[in-house]
Amino acid sequence: MSTSVLVINCGSSSIKYALVSERREDRIFGLAENLGSAEARIKGITTGGAELELSIPNADHEKALEIILERLSHHNPQAIGHRVVHGGTLTKAELLTPEIIERIREATPLAPLHNPAHLVGIDATMRLFPQLPQVAVFDTAFHQTMPSHAYRYALPKFLYTMHNVRRYGFHGTSHAYVSERGSELAGSFKQGGWLTAHLGNGSSTCAIWNGQSVDTSMGLTPLEGVVMGTRSGDVDPSIHSFLASNLGWDIYKIDKMLNSQSGLLGLSDLSNDMRTLIEASDQGNEDAALAIEVFCYRLAKSLAALSCGLPRIDGLFFTGGIGENSALIREKTLAYLPHFGFNLSKDKNDSLKRGTEGRIDAGAGPQIWVVPTDEEGRIAKETQHVVEHEAASAKKSEAEEEAVA
Ligand code: AMP
Repeated sequence: MSTSVLVINCGSSSIKYALVSERREDRIFGLAENLGSAEARIKGITTGGAELELSIPNADHEKALEIILERLSHHNPQAIGHRVVHGGTLTKAELLTPEIIERIREATPLAPLHNPAHLVGIDATMRLFPQLPQVAVFDTAFHQTMPSHAYRYALPKFLYTMHNVRRYGFHGTSHAYVSERGSELAGSFKQGGWLTAHLGNGSSTCAIWNGQSVDTSMGLTPLEGVVMGTRSGDVDPSIHSFLASNLGWDIYKIDKMLNSQSGLLGLSDLSNDMRTLIEASDQGNEDAALAIEVFCYRLAKSLAALSCGLPRIDGLFFTGGIGENSALIREKTLAYLPHFGFNLSKDKNDSLKRGTEGRIDAGAGPQIWVVPTDEEGRIAKETQHVVEHEAASAKKSEAEEEAVA
């Protein structure tokens, strides 16, 4: 592989990795999972598409990264790009310096499940590969262009000014990639007004005007917004006092319920997986059918609400495991938005092959596209930009110093 970037996404007990070539056409990727346990293993695809499965009993993040990097070292990665969920108010990808690492640490209370895991990965790669430039790419950064009327909550001002309580938004890497690629396919690169629906195990919507995020469904944390696999999305905030007063639940139990036991899983009492629910619904399971209906209705409501951020709607992009693969969910969601003039082509919607990009409207009204997301490719691209920009700045300062001397 020519010049390449290693993209790393560290979770609490897993590491997703991808080695992405300069023009992003070649990939080697995999997943280290069950880290810290006897079942720890690496599964992936190596050069040439061969499958890899490697048992690494009791390996921690550092050990797993060491093995991953050892296996990839002959490809000479030029840089490492880390996916970081919460960057606080950082507005773009940043070269990892002690100051930026501190900013990621400061944002930990806002992403207590994600940022500590990212920091473990960053710490390990910094120790193992001090010679490689390393960049953090934030899920929140794309949404830093939201106007204050979109990112402020109607709460006492000091909670914002002193404690950073505001809406941040997530899935920014995906919304940025999909809206850029989609508007390019539509012949109006980064121009006009677009809605994106990223529908996976985590789901969110975004409104984009001339290439910039103007509003999004997730907020202070990734719990706000549409119905997700196990997350509730929007609920009446008084549910906390209701459950505390009536069932004696503490805040941790309520938080766990909203994040891990709700959404599609909670509604169906069956599964968080949309495929399972569609199958069950086809076989007459009423709870599964209701979970699908609530998912689509709430999604349509979110898209309608976000349209307030756009002077006009040129179209809608579907992405994520559900958005890319399920014609049924796309059709049901659009059926709740007849007044927006969307004109779905049933044939194009049904016949779009999985994992492919394509236009699925019938011509009149706003465009409708399926655009498979590419978060790894986008992280690699941003990492490359930061590294090239830093190198150019260093060269310029050197030249200026020489001129003064
Ligand atoms: P992601 O988090 O983007 O990987 O998406 C995971 C979700 O996509 C799960 O709910 C899957 O059930 C769903 N998904 C994947 N393929 C399909 C499909 N063909 N039809 C419906 N949902 C699907």
